[in-house]
Amino acid sequence: MKYAVLADIHANLSALEAVLSDIEGQGGVDEVWCLGDIVGYGPDPQRCIEIVRDQCPDCVAGNHDWAAAGKIKTSLFNPEAASALDWTRSQLSQEDIRFLTDLPEVLERDRFTLVHGSPISPIWEYVLSVWDAEASLKYFKTPYCLIGHSHLPLLFECSDTRTDCRLIDAEPGNDRQLGKKRLLINPGSVGQPRDHDPRAAYALLDTESGRVVWRRVKYDIAETQRRMSRFGLPEWLIQRLEEGR
Ligand code: ZN
Repeated sequence: MKYAVLADIHANLSALEAVLSDIEGQGGVDEVWCLGDIVGYGPDPQRCIEIVRDQCPDCVAGNHDWAAAGKIKTSLFNPEAASALDWTRSQLSQEDIRFLTDLPEVLERDRFTLVHGSPISPIWEYVLSVWDAEASLKYFKTPYCLIGHSHLPLLFECSDTRTDCRLIDAEPGNDRQLGKKRLLINPGSVGQPRDHDPRAAYALLDTESGRVVWRRVKYDIAETQRRMSRFGLPEWLIQRLEEGR
């Protein structure tokens, strides 16, 4: 089976469309998986929810999804994120809110566990270090775990007998083998990359050849920024897109 893994779309429609067309350009996949944070920050929450609902039946909840739906408090976020979330909520229909509210925290598909943050705390926790990765190993049963939330393409490779993980740089175009080692795989962010590369990020999985490939895709950043300005979204959120941070 072939899967595409999309995380942290953040209502960035230009980035999402560019990624979906890159997936087609790569020969297409059997399923597109979504690791949450469909909305928040960006200018097109409704359209992004619609696309995810149609094209990614397997999607887990992110902290921004549940905050936009009113399930968690926006006061837990920094002021810019909270202000974007208040605006996002004003754009959503009851149906959109229900869709976001009902997103599950964890899914198991094929040999993968899907979460937004970490298997320990799926909505909030970041997996950024080998210690985070090691601590999380006993919280998922599948060989591999797919994570988002940090907006950084990352790979943690861990022994299946001892908790000795190492961090491997997930460079675009690099591919790694889905072998015997346990892996935590972060595809990076579609709509707000933070690794100083402003291009949209996602990953492709092929369970037959056993490969995972990180992809980067150019998209019309200026178009997303224009729409954000039009809706009065915070300046810092607009600027960070072109800087990839
Ligand atoms: Zn996010």
